[in-house]
Amino acid sequence: MTGSRLSFEEMWERIMACDDRYDGLFFTAVKTTRIYCRPSCRSRKPKKENVDFYLVISEAEAAGYRPCKRCQPQVEHSPWNGFVLLARAFIVEHYRENLLLKDIAEHVKLSVHYLDRLFKQETGETPRLYLEKVRVDRAAHLLRWSEKSNLEICYEAGFHTPSNFYKAFRRHHDCSPGEYRNQGAPIMREDIRRKALKRSAAAENAEYVGQMVVSEIGY
Ligand SMILES: [Zn+2]
Repeated sequence: MTGSRLSFEEMWERIMACDDRYDGLFFTAVKTTRIYCRPSCRSRKPKKENVDFYLVISEAEAAGYRPCKRCQPQVEHSPWNGFVLLARAFIVEHYRENLLLKDIAEHVKLSVHYLDRLFKQETGETPRLYLEKVRVDRAAHLLRWSEKSNLEICYEAGFHTPSNFYKAFRRHHDCSPGEYRNQGAPIMREDIRRKALKRSAAAENAEYVGQMVVSEIGY
């Protein structure tokens, strides 16, 4: 089922980060309040031991949970959301493979061009960038929890070359994987992280911006 490749700890990290890019892939159910939420919900975070994760709403509701009034996890914001969700779930399931946009498009049953446009229109980013984000999240998780080397993490997170790994990691966290680990691998709220990245990107020169189009996913 969707999102099943994420471990409990990874889902926990995404809800601590209020990461809307995982909305719809899983739901956080809070045993004490009997409420379920989107990963991006800004309500006060529950204690870890009070949390259960569900991959589909029907299962959370069958277990007696009700939707959160604040984040409204049962509401789809757009009629196109189903396609985006399918594409995201496919990416989260297959990020370790040499994933091509064509594979994602085939899975979603849209043309490559249309999927790319729709995904961008709905989420503000391309599927390629989303794939990169999922890989960086996996790498950050391994830096936080494992003793593996940067090189092992690079491949385990689905990157094909260390240079792509380092560039992508810096693009999302504004530091190297080693620095991130040395800082204690902090989980930052997504909106704060993105704002910080924007500020830092604005300070970068045009040459670096040129490098940002380096593609990890083949078109
Ligand atoms: Zn909520």
